[in-house]
Amino acid sequence: MDSEKRSFKCRQCGTCCRWTGHVLLEPADIARLAAAAKLTEEAFIARYTALAANRRQLSLADAPDGSCVLLESGRCALYDARPAQCRDFPHGWRVAEGCPALDELNKTSSV
Ligand code: SF4
Repeated sequence: MDSEKRSFKCRQCGTCCRWTGHVLLEPADIARLAAAAKLTEEAFIARYTALAANRRQLSLADAPDGSCVLLESGRCALYDARPAQCRDFPHGWRVAEGCPALDELNKTSSV
């Protein structure tokens, strides 16, 4: 997975932003996202987060259709400030297939 992570290049297609699951937020994520959204951390938390299933952390909220609340016109509205969990993709994610960049990488590395 390490070499996979090194050569992985997200295409910003927005597919993973529609998958079921939670994007957990660390304090540094909230500070970076709030600054990028030009909001106070309190305002960002109120508008874009929810209590995570682990009840110890915040996660990005879901839009009404179940996609990530930050998905806008098919891509992340705050991509440059995206949470560490999204930056680390595919490392630590349980992904079988569906990400075009990862599918391509898997195809070329299995040849
Ligand atoms: S599915 Fe893959 S290529 Fe598309 S936005 Fe997510 S990580 Fe990037």
